Amino acid sequence: MCQNIKRVCVLGTGVLGSQIAYQTAYSGFDVVAYDINDEILEGAKERFAKLVATYKREVPGASGGRAEDALSRLRLSADLADAVRDVDLVIEAVPKSLDIKKQTYEQLASLAPARTIFATNSSTLLPSHMAAATGRPDRFLALHFANEVWRFNTAEIMGTPDTDPAVYHMVVEFATAIGMVPIELHKEKAGYVLNSLLVPFLNAAAALAEGGYADPDDVDKTWRIATGAPLGPFQMYDVIGLMTPYNILIHGDQDDRRIADWLKKNYIDKGKLGVATGAGFYTYS
Ligand code: NAD
Repeated sequence: MCQNIKRVCVLGTGVLGSQIAYQTAYSGFDVVAYDINDEILEGAKERFAKLVATYKREVPGASGGRAEDALSRLRLSADLADAVRDVDLVIEAVPKSLDIKKQTYEQLASLAPARTIFATNSSTLLPSHMAAATGRPDRFLALHFANEVWRFNTAEIMGTPDTDPAVYHMVVEFATAIGMVPIELHKEKAGYVLNSLLVPFLNAAAALAEGGYADPDDVDKTWRIATGAPLGPFQMYDVIGLMTPYNILIHGDQDDRRIADWLKKNYIDKGKLGVATGAGFYTYS
């Protein structure tokens, strides 16, 4: 377990919040999963039930009752004051809007105990953009998970210049205790480590295909055979889903927008959005 963090609240029970809450409970912590109303929490119950089934199928040791046991440590609440009353750590996974996040932290600042650490799972906003709203910038940082936390178990940990190093180390310890591999960033960087590598890599692959230099499957073949990597960039596009890169590229410079248009015309408009839709750059049964 973890010396300083025993009770955790996760804000938001969407795609990532539900996974973080469940993984934390699965690892033996008491967890409150908060969302804005009871109707959404009903949906969260379904997400948790699906995670139980997924863990039993994919996580060694999860069958034999352990996956179900996690639910007994997971409490749902639509009352923020109740949810954070006695927790050591709040992990925020609310929608990626700076306004929503700031409002959430302003409310939290007065409701959570002074000792409580706040962590944002935001992929796109730097923690320093929100630090002032927390009222406790020394106890605030980013703890960034990857989608499908039980398989892709990195936790990127990134403080602001105001984060207390002792708090940072507590969160590193916590990440390890819930089965993540902590990736420590020494200073703020948009995209953390993973997306700082992945985004230019995927863009470079798309530029090769869009520019007519090589077909996607030859680009993938090159990457796999020459580096020993299990997947090529277009296979990765299919796993991620084409809409996420499209939505980033369409707001980029001229080259990015040209790639976005190419993705749209050749794949997105044809319903080829990736593995989830049965087809993307490749087809899936
Ligand atoms: P999502 O839209 O699936 O879920 C957001 C949840 O927050 C919803 O359940 C919503 O009801 C709830 N919510 C809305 N307003 C709220 C409020 N004021 N207070 C509390 N909860 C509120 O979003 P997501 O994909 O889980 O993303 C959440 C955060 O995690 C974002 O910052 C995103 O950048 C980050 N993230 C997402 C992924 C991913 O692959 N989806 C990966 C890493 C990080």
